[in-house]
Amino acid sequence: MSYEIREYQHFIDGQWQAPAGGEQIDSVCPGDGLPIARIARGNAADVDRAVGAARRVFDREEWGHHRNGPARAELLRAVAARIREKRDELALLESLDSGKPLTESSMIDVPSAADTFEFFADQISGASAGEVLPIPGDVLDFTLREPLGVCGAIVPWNFPIMFVAWKAAPAIAAGNAVVFKPSELTSVTALEVAKIFEEAGAPAGVFNVVTGFGEEVGRALAEHDEVDKISFTGSTEVGREIQRRAAGNLKRITLELGGKSPNIVFADADLDQAVSGAMTGIFLNQGEMCCAGSRILVQDSIHDRFVEQLVERARKIVVGHPAAWETKMGALITPEHRRRVLGYVQKGIAGGARLLTGGRPAEAPELVSGNYVEPTVFDRVTPEMTIAREEIFGPVAAVMSFQDEASAIALANDTCYGLASAVWTRDIKRALRVARALRAGTVWINNFSMIGPYTPFGGYKQSGYGKDLGKAALSEYTQVKNVYIELADDILCLYE
Ligand code: NAD
Repeated sequence: MSYEIREYQHFIDGQWQAPAGGEQIDSVCPGDGLPIARIARGNAADVDRAVGAARRVFDREEWGHHRNGPARAELLRAVAARIREKRDELALLESLDSGKPLTESSMIDVPSAADTFEFFADQISGASAGEVLPIPGDVLDFTLREPLGVCGAIVPWNFPIMFVAWKAAPAIAAGNAVVFKPSELTSVTALEVAKIFEEAGAPAGVFNVVTGFGEEVGRALAEHDEVDKISFTGSTEVGREIQRRAAGNLKRITLELGGKSPNIVFADADLDQAVSGAMTGIFLNQGEMCCAGSRILVQDSIHDRFVEQLVERARKIVVGHPAAWETKMGALITPEHRRRVLGYVQKGIAGGARLLTGGRPAEAPELVSGNYVEPTVFDRVTPEMTIAREEIFGPVAAVMSFQDEASAIALANDTCYGLASAVWTRDIKRALRVARALRAGTVWINNFSMIGPYTPFGGYKQSGYGKDLGKAALSEYTQVKNVYIELADDILCLYE
């Protein structure tokens, strides 16, 4: 078997441009190791060209001016519509590039990217709306919300097309120009979205894509003096480095980083629903989710029944090629990442946790050339174990038990991360008490993983700061100007 290999250059200043260094990177399918595309290996010179193009459209064509709001809304709507039209093609490319099952990319990732572009098209008038301030005296004072300028986005490989929408849609809605750097492992759908911007007639320089490695492209973007903001999604370690590098010109930054999210199941929860939610929380996208519910905290009295159902259902998950419709769990992104995940399984066993299912590469002969791992459940995990503390980023659930509400909250908050969390209970008062006590940017009650364009998403603690999505995202891409208008005939002067 082989795929038709697509070739891509950078998309800079409305044109497809060859990389300055003349080199390419192969993009392979995690499901079988076969190449699917060749992308440009960018460097600082490419970043500089893209930033220059973004600066020009922002400064000279006043792209961010509120008079261009309707044009920006029209562009974002056209992009959303075209993503929907091309759903099948984009979903297949996304699955082949990232390893996620086709059902997920066609039912979740691609439609949700379109929804996000549409949502921010609807927010455009609000993006620049300020407020009139009731100052005492003969004064009119109001605020304006204005775009920042050139916004860089650096993203990982787990939700490639969704991240284009999460970063580009609010930035453009607010009137900025964007330089987007996808992961070197999954650049295909970002480049396909660049084609869509081109077809939609986007002004040159409004949306640029520079592909390549983090050390070469990401670093140059983070350090560039003409970039006003970096929105980064990725590991906590690289987030720290970006923060240091962005300090040169005091760029604003948004950091969406790692997580070790608690999923708390109380004894009064609907057990069947809670097991379903726990499965989505840890097995969706092969567990390669920043907000994965990787610590499942279950109240003592239902622990055995919960674990029995979780294990029984985990064993039935169909692991298979990402492009096959029957697949429910695809392949991890690279062989190295699979080794890392399996390394955590060994640490779990060595640390004394009880492995109930999975923990191995998938064994079917047709899967040996891909990076597959069986859905894995550990029980009797205790808070000090490595698998309870570190982000695994794979399909590995760590079940822990608790006695009462106070101990559940203490256990849930016992982490350096604070991205997401969930509570399963029929008691609304308890649900709200626990939601308030959890130190995380998202709390789901009787659900897990529901993220949409309307809901602000971002972390507490070392999961970062700033928000993607929701109206809150617009304030990440705007700055406030205060305008004071004196209406009195005489102004106070201290020097007469
Ligand atoms: P990563 O941090 O290694 O890479 C993310 C991006 O940063 C990539 O585009 C990479 O090329 C780039 N990069 C790497 N080194 C860089 C450097 N020195 N300077 C500038 N850019 C650099 O992360 P990953 O392995 O691609 O993704 C997994 C991580 O992402 C996990 O920790 C996960 O939790 C996190 N993540 C967070 C969220 C969120 O919303 N909070 C969402 C998805 C993934």
